[in-house]
Amino acid sequence: MKRYLISGGAGFLGTNLSLWLLSEGHFVYCVDNLHTGTKRNLAELRKHKNFKFKKHDVRKPFREKIKFDYVLNLACPASPPRYYEDPILTLETNSIGTKNMLEVALKNKARFFHTSTSEVYGDPLVHPQSEKYFGNVESYAKRSCYDEGKRYAEALIWQYRNLHGVDTGIIRIFNTYGPWMDPDDGRVVTNFIKQALSNTDITIQDTGKQTRSFCYVDDQIDGMMKMIHSEEEGPINIGNPDEFTIIELAKKVIELTNSKSKIIHVEAAISDPKQRKPVISLAKKKLGWSPKIKLEEGLRRTIEWTKTKGR
Ligand code: NAD
Ligand code: UDP
Repeated sequence: MKRYLISGGAGFLGTNLSLWLLSEGHFVYCVDNLHTGTKRNLAELRKHKNFKFKKHDVRKPFREKIKFDYVLNLACPASPPRYYEDPILTLETNSIGTKNMLEVALKNKARFFHTSTSEVYGDPLVHPQSEKYFGNVESYAKRSCYDEGKRYAEALIWQYRNLHGVDTGIIRIFNTYGPWMDPDDGRVVTNFIKQALSNTDITIQDTGKQTRSFCYVDDQIDGMMKMIHSEEEGPINIGNPDEFTIIELAKKVIELTNSKSKIIHVEAAISDPKQRKPVISLAKKKLGWSPKIKLEEGLRRTIEWTKTKGR
């Protein structure tokens, strides 16, 4: 049994990752301020005897007598409407919060795993995006609380690795969806499923010709587990390279839910990236990872979960 400290463990990915670790018999200590994490997710995690929770904001130093083998840094709101709610929290979680978690890893001589994002590529001018691409990010802008926050976190991790010898691993996650995502958190897959199941209008922002590449959560967690338990430094892209327009996504959701919803077009999201698709050759080579679940199957599973547990 290994001991894992996870920040942001009550959120969407944190819950899925914790459930996976708990099912393998490990001890999981979750710290979360419940900014976007949910009580429903926590209630599920609390069913496991090897799970411990502390309400804690990672912007404050974390002290605990338990010796951790791994520090998994997931804390940070990931949905645009949620990170705009408190942009200073978003910046500080990525900067001060990441530093505090790095300090725990340093003290414990633990491996430090960090969830970076495809948003470090900004509104990419190169398509698809490999880890070698430096990105196209506007620093002086509303969205930069997230993009630049995440870029700063990567820069800080580089310094802790090279100055202090912390064993670090970074992945860059591309749009991931699935069970345990808060249906109200405002991301596109949950919005469309919720709208389709209630036969209300499907809100496509802008033209809907913008693209995303959607990864089902089980594939994402498989990639995370491989990275956590490797010696790789990264950053490594983890995402599904199958690319769809937002209109295609809306039509698939309507079809799979047999919904009467109509598609309407609403205002564009702020600084919305026009295209996004990962190059995953590094993940294949270094981790032996590639996604298995097609969008249609992932949506089917997510719709089923939303109908039974998500509402
Ligand atoms: P989420 O919003 O569901 O979960 C984030 C969790 O972090 C929540 O439980 C929240 O309460 C917690 N948190 C936020 N600020 C905190 C703070 N200051 N102190 C303690 N806890 C705090 O998001 P998610 O989709 O689970 O994303 C998890 C991580 O993965 C994030 O770092 C996110 O940037 C990254 N990521 C996710 C995606 C995706 O598609 N899901 C894509 C790219 C990157
Ligand atoms: N989007 C949309 N309708 C919604 C929510 C989002 O058309 O109700 C679009 C949004 O403009 C973006 C894409 O879907 O182009 C993905 O948005 P999301 O917030 O899920 O993720 P991110 O922008 O961070 O990739």
